[in-house]
Amino acid sequence: MTTRNRKSITFKAMKNPVAESLVSWYSVNKRHLPWRETRDPYLIWLSEVILQQTRVNQGLEYYRRFVEAFPVVFDLAGAAETEVLKLWQGLGYYSRARNLHKTAKIIVGNHSGKFPETSSGLLKLPGIGNYTAAAIASICFDEAAPVVDGNVIRVVSRLFGIAENAQTPGGYKQIAHIMHELMEGFAPSLFNQAVMEFGALQCVPNSPACHQCSLQPQCFAFANGLVQQLPVKKSKPEVTVRYFNYLVITITKADGDCILLRKRTGKDIWHNLYDFPAVENSRELITDQDLTSSDAGNLLPTDFSILGISGRYTHLLTHRRIIAKFFRIHISSEMAPMQNHYWVKVADLPGYPVPRLIDRYLHEHPLCTLVIQHRMKQ
Ligand code: SF4
Repeated sequence: MTTRNRKSITFKAMKNPVAESLVSWYSVNKRHLPWRETRDPYLIWLSEVILQQTRVNQGLEYYRRFVEAFPVVFDLAGAAETEVLKLWQGLGYYSRARNLHKTAKIIVGNHSGKFPETSSGLLKLPGIGNYTAAAIASICFDEAAPVVDGNVIRVVSRLFGIAENAQTPGGYKQIAHIMHELMEGFAPSLFNQAVMEFGALQCVPNSPACHQCSLQPQCFAFANGLVQQLPVKKSKPEVTVRYFNYLVITITKADGDCILLRKRTGKDIWHNLYDFPAVENSRELITDQDLTSSDAGNLLPTDFSILGISGRYTHLLTHRRIIAKFFRIHISSEMAPMQNHYWVKVADLPGYPVPRLIDRYLHEHPLCTLVIQHRMKQ
């Protein structure tokens, strides 16, 4: 691939024409979003963390929910982690929610509720990396800190013909350096948001509308037929497949119908979320005949009824594919207690944060109906 040598790009200490075009485009095309109406670092931080790897339409709903539940950082710091995870449910990347909560506690406990006003100060907080620190510092405190996210990498790589993968330290530095020089003469907040918005709406990953693009005359990738090749991407990591055989166990107790939940406390996906006891293997799903002979047999009492078996569920995570099956089981006598497993009233189940896979299953198989049907059969 022929690309421009970045060292040959020089910017004067005045507004760069490409930067001017980006800012003009932004003034006409920007979306009106609630976090663009504020410079409150708490709200900007919330929006930035929620929007990472999330579409704006989906993120908007979560942003509103969080602001309503926790209007100020003190409210978020004082919440239970379960409450935070429940509000986050469905967004994925749950470590972001846990870090959000941790950081709120630090801001309240160590900084009297005030966010650090520099990107270097912000970087010391859990879950705040270069991108988020630069976004908060530029938007709230006018620091000339360039943001480098997927949209920015794509826009800069195409406009200037960057041949290096931005996931490498060298590639990242090149993008950050160009952004820093381009923002000269503009409010950092305005410039950063202009590039991100341009990447989100105009210079999109696949088939951008180059013929209707106001930056086309200044675009290296367009002039050289490299729009689809840029930015240079890293090779995709291998996806591992895991098979989860879930045991959805219910029991009727004196005070009502209960279900057995497992809290995921290990260093694995869905940390601190709830799902069901499960037998996992790396080969295939088990059958109902395997229920007593496999590891599932160790989890169940000798006397149980199978109320139903779900079809095969597939759930995709960034580097994993989860194949799952749910065995709906009712027991009449209580099992020996197991660590991190809790009997929860079926009616209270909606209050527990669960992975999207479990949420999907529960929507498709309402447990109340299930237990009632079982009682009617008896
Ligand atoms: S011409 Fe195409 S590739 Fe170049 S900036 Fe515009 S949309 Fe992006």
